[in-house]
Amino acid sequence: MDVEKKRQREQETVAKIIEIYCHDHHGKRSGLCPKCEELAHYAEARIAACPRMEVKSFCSVCPIHCYAPARRQEIQTIMRYGGPRMLLHHPLMTLHHMMLSWQMRLERFAFFRHSRQSDRSVKVK
Ligand SMILES: [Zn+2]
Repeated sequence: MDVEKKRQREQETVAKIIEIYCHDHHGKRSGLCPKCEELAHYAEARIAACPRMEVKSFCSVCPIHCYAPARRQEIQTIMRYGGPRMLLHHPLMTLHHMMLSWQMRLERFAFFRHSRQSDRSVKVK
């Protein structure tokens, strides 16, 4: 997938999750309350400025956290709530997100294992 498409998809996913959260918590039927609207813009801007879009999958599994701590906490709360619910509302989008997240975790795991091995040729398994 090309980088810009990935970027756009992450922005859409995050926007959807914020929407789900806002509807359930702030009683908005359509659109977002001002606070969530602001957070959505913030997240969008962070994703737009992400220098690691090419190598990372999603902000939730990225080792570099470019969100300000307070914002990060807000978005994490929302993701924890809205993530599983995304599966009901937008199953395909969520499955895709999960697949990329797992892939990313596996890659990181492989990287750590690899970097611990001083001589790779000795142990090829
Ligand atoms: Zn809201």
